[in-house]
Amino acid sequence: MSRFFSEKYKALTPYTPGEQPQDMQYVKLNTNESPFPPCEAAVAAAAEAAKKLQLYPDPDCRALTAKLAEIYGVSPAQVIVNNGSDETLNFAFMAYCDANHPAVFPDITYGFYPVFAALNGVPYEEIPLKADFTIDLPRFRGVGKTIFIANPNAPTGIALTPEEIESLLKTNPDNVVVIDEAYVDFGAQSAVGLVNKYDNLLVVQTFSKSRSMAGARIGFGIGSPALIADLNTVKYSTNPYNINRMTAAAGLACLENEEITRRNCRTVAENRAFTVAALRELGFACTDSKANFIFAKSDKIGGRALYQELKKRGVLIRHFDKERIADYIRITVGSREQMDIFLARVREILEEQV
Ligand code: PMP
Repeated sequence: MSRFFSEKYKALTPYTPGEQPQDMQYVKLNTNESPFPPCEAAVAAAAEAAKKLQLYPDPDCRALTAKLAEIYGVSPAQVIVNNGSDETLNFAFMAYCDANHPAVFPDITYGFYPVFAALNGVPYEEIPLKADFTIDLPRFRGVGKTIFIANPNAPTGIALTPEEIESLLKTNPDNVVVIDEAYVDFGAQSAVGLVNKYDNLLVVQTFSKSRSMAGARIGFGIGSPALIADLNTVKYSTNPYNINRMTAAAGLACLENEEITRRNCRTVAENRAFTVAALRELGFACTDSKANFIFAKSDKIGGRALYQELKKRGVLIRHFDKERIADYIRITVGSREQMDIFLARVREILEEQV
């Protein structure tokens, strides 16, 4: 840290992204990326857009916004496109949280929420998940704070129903409820259908998972026109050109090929079911994940040891040191070939344990 670093940020512990190793070719199941490449049309559109890089991009992302509005059945004024859902989430912390509007989220959830809170000087409360790792809904009802819930939750993969989310919206009418649907396309139900009924709902989604575009950085928010206007005030006060030309073009082409996204999501769901069944046979406990990852605990080996053993054998998964979940590992659901390799390595490791 330099002696010039602002007092505001001195105590900040930044978010630790999953490893993006450059040393060797791993079977990479650690950051919930898609195993499938982006659709060809998206790649071609990005290449074409690159020819106009001398010009600024459209700060309103009009074409992409209009297409998203059409797909999700809302008006363009109800959509904002940002640089990954991380940026939308940060904007939501900036726009809807302060000393009088603290944030609240589960104790085990996306690790960026406490970082965004700290970055923006926002007090926050963490409500423990129940013993079965489900969200303790009664404690969120009428909590009177700005709520952030990942649905499905990360890293458990467990999802709430729209009815359960509606109970939070109804009982917190004077607070914004942010539903982070980064993983919703893999088997959970979206809350987007509630945005016209509740002016306090902001749904956040991303192209990083189901749409195979983590490297492009596109996320979007859907809510009431007034909420979207707030987020645009923040966006236009920080970086109006947050979506570059290539990303915007690739995103639009991707949306014009939604059937590819749907097919990929179905394949991931099939590979998830196959892998969960195999892990259970090997003595693992797995949560009921509706996401593109599996959260599992072995009855024979600890989470950190299993992570290390798999890494030695060229398979990268994610382990979290947080006490409550230290026995678990999180495995991104990849292609069937990747899951076969992962399971073969797990079998080898378990055999060595006895
Ligand atoms: N929300 C959740 C729950 C996530 O796990 C992630 C991925 N790390 C994000 C948001 C951010 O995704 P992105 O910025 O790539 O859209």
